[in-house]
Amino acid sequence: MVVRMRLNRSQTGSRRSDKGYKKKALVLCSECGARKLPHRVCNNCGTYKGRMVIDVNAEVARLEKRKSAKRAERGEETSDEKKTVEEKK
Ligand SMILES: [Zn+2]
Repeated sequence: MVVRMRLNRSQTGSRRSDKGYKKKALVLCSECGARKLPHRVCNNCGTYKGRMVIDVNAEVARLEKRKSAKRAERGEETSDEKKTVEEKK
């Protein structure tokens, strides 16, 4: 970038000021009462319009399985085991 094109801090700040985060509109889940995004499946109980859409427990188990598989792939499982052993002592 050419020096002539550079913006000072004030110009950068005023540009970014318009990109501020807006509060997400949250609604309460009719099943479990947790806050969720409107027109979305509830992350807490996995229902939409009172109908079970996602089996939350199965989904959690699936994600855990994937995580542990990835860890084993990277060979981090041994280091984690060492840590837990050290913590126990
Ligand atoms: Zn819910």
